[in-house]
Amino acid sequence: MKYKRILLKLSGEALMGDKNYGIDPKRLEQYALEIKKVVDMGVEVALVIGGGNIFRGVQSEKIGIDRVQGDYMGMLATLINAMALQSALEQNGMYTRLMSGIKIESVCEPFIRRRAIRHLEKGRVVIFGAGIGNPYFTTDSTASLRAIEIEAEVVLKGTRVDGVYTADPEKDANATRYETISFQEVYENNLNVMDMTAFTLCQENNLPIIVFDMNKDGNLENLINGEDVGTLIMSK
Ligand code: UDP
Repeated sequence: MKYKRILLKLSGEALMGDKNYGIDPKRLEQYALEIKKVVDMGVEVALVIGGGNIFRGVQSEKIGIDRVQGDYMGMLATLINAMALQSALEQNGMYTRLMSGIKIESVCEPFIRRRAIRHLEKGRVVIFGAGIGNPYFTTDSTASLRAIEIEAEVVLKGTRVDGVYTADPEKDANATRYETISFQEVYENNLNVMDMTAFTLCQENNLPIIVFDMNKDGNLENLINGEDVGTLIMSK
């Protein structure tokens, strides 16, 4: 087992599956089963899930809602996904805790760092909902920040592409995947891994990122076993 404590970031959009809004129950179940495989290995798992399948702050101005209000709506959207994911994990026999960046006390615990670490040590899957609780941030930044706070060894960014490519593989047939790449090279080549705030936090704190395809069965488990899955971004 290559990693003992991980932070897995899932996008909200991925939860839509084949739909164009909301949550696809099949995808939710698939994610729960993939996560269970690594929980059963003894890996301590923290999760951050986005909200893009429901609402994004940047959309808000188009519909006459100011950005900050929109960002809070986006944070609440992540909480809806987090609650759905929590249920799916529990139905599959995992113990979980949901911690929110915004206080919503009848639904979940507030984020308290020491408590989050304690939950992980006890084998509970900890889901961080509602982002970091501040507007103008993303769930990628939440993933980086929380990973640093709980001393995770790696941020796993689960996406629908299997890593970082020299160019957009959906547009350029000659694009090739990097097995590993340094933070510096990502900057120099203008590659799009995650937003700059999130990316810089990882770089400054020497926290590796792995971008991988979460929709492929067994990928998460293989990655934990140290196989060549996705792209590893690290300081070189
Ligand atoms: N958001 C925020 N602060 C945070 C995390 C999220 O304001 O700390 C808002 C922001 O508006 C964002 C939305 O929540 O657009 C949903 O999150 P994100 O877009 O990161 O979700 P994803 O793209 O991963 O589905």
